[in-house]
Amino acid sequence: MVGLGCGILFGNEDKNNWKTFWEFLHKAHPIINQRSKTIITDQDKGSSSSIKEILTEVGLFHCSFHRRQNILRKFGGGKGNTPLTAMWMYNRLMQCNNVSSIQYLRSKYSEKIHPSHLHYLGGIDDEQQYPAARCAMSDDIIMYGLSASSGAESMNRANDSVRRRTATDALNAALLWVQKESDRYERSKADAWKKDRFRSEKPLTPRGMSLMKDIFENCDTALYRITNVTETDTHHFAKIHKYSTPHREYEVKIPIEGQTHGSRFGTCTCGFPRKEGIPCDHMVAIVKVGAIPMLTKVSIMPYWFTREQWQLQFPTEVISPADITLAAMKSNSLKVDNLRYCPEWTVGRKKGRPKKGQRTLGITDHIQNSAKKRKRAQGGTARRRGELEIETILESEEADDIEQLLQADGVEAEIKGTIGIAD
Ligand SMILES: [Zn+2]
Repeated sequence: MVGLGCGILFGNEDKNNWKTFWEFLHKAHPIINQRSKTIITDQDKGSSSSIKEILTEVGLFHCSFHRRQNILRKFGGGKGNTPLTAMWMYNRLMQCNNVSSIQYLRSKYSEKIHPSHLHYLGGIDDEQQYPAARCAMSDDIIMYGLSASSGAESMNRANDSVRRRTATDALNAALLWVQKESDRYERSKADAWKKDRFRSEKPLTPRGMSLMKDIFENCDTALYRITNVTETDTHHFAKIHKYSTPHREYEVKIPIEGQTHGSRFGTCTCGFPRKEGIPCDHMVAIVKVGAIPMLTKVSIMPYWFTREQWQLQFPTEVISPADITLAAMKSNSLKVDNLRYCPEWTVGRKKGRPKKGQRTLGITDHIQNSAKKRKRAQGGTARRRGELEIETILESEEADDIEQLLQADGVEAEIKGTIGIAD
């Protein structure tokens, strides 16, 4: 995985915050705004509407991890082993490699599945939730076997120490973050350019090598029958089907000349190569029996698993400096005068429908609540008293601030000003 950009959102994950983030990413990498690019998100309202505004060309895709959580919450269904439940159907459609399989399964089961389950699954366009449908939109859309935002989640975990520091000081957190990013970049660069005596035998990345080994070991050529190998000026074509299913025939298309970094990764009408980003069993069988001349197991691998591509992603001449100190920041940078710590209640109201029967809290409510908390705190046991005292001090300070605010003239303007900063 290569990080394109990251940011810390202070306050709410609202549309404005997200917009700033996507604008930054677009400026740094204008190339991401293309029809062939897919952005997987948890479909947070602010996030997806801001992407639509800034990155007008990209395709949005709903993270399968979050989708499964939502289905589980609504209908149960565990891991999806119970037939004809929403989870079971979702899992089956996720596995489809092409649109005709999606249509086939749907027509086969739609009568038998409960309408509310079907309706829920249909709430999102196929292109935004099933990889096969997304890939079918254009020949250059590839999902690389990804359907969840797990990469972003694991980066969140890796940066946990940064996130914790944002509670005290944004600058301190940012410095640590730059240091961590720099370490990661230098480590990946060293890996990509590692010189050892086996290098010439490893033309692919470590992951590429192990994937190639797996797919070639697992393909049983005895299962397949290859018919009709033809060629044009630019491509070889081979028709292939399983002996057990002669009615399901697929066509593999392989470029005659090596493409990017010499790769001859082609396409197959089964849809698997673009959905998973690796050669399908059909391609592997064709290589193994030698049906297409000069096609090797390395050259059938897509270019994104080549060592050359890896090295392009981490150029040696680029260094990622991180020797920034607080003292240097103080002497070389300007102070941001409008940056303030804002209590939670000054942040703009959260989007979405308030819970039934719940009243929106005003400033006076916050004051009352903190007074209540203070009372509760005084009644605590001796063991807990130490911590509670600290809490009480914080609470009362906050309450004093609020009271001061209320007494001052132009309260409204002050509060609005704070909210403006928080946004
Ligand atoms: Zn295939």
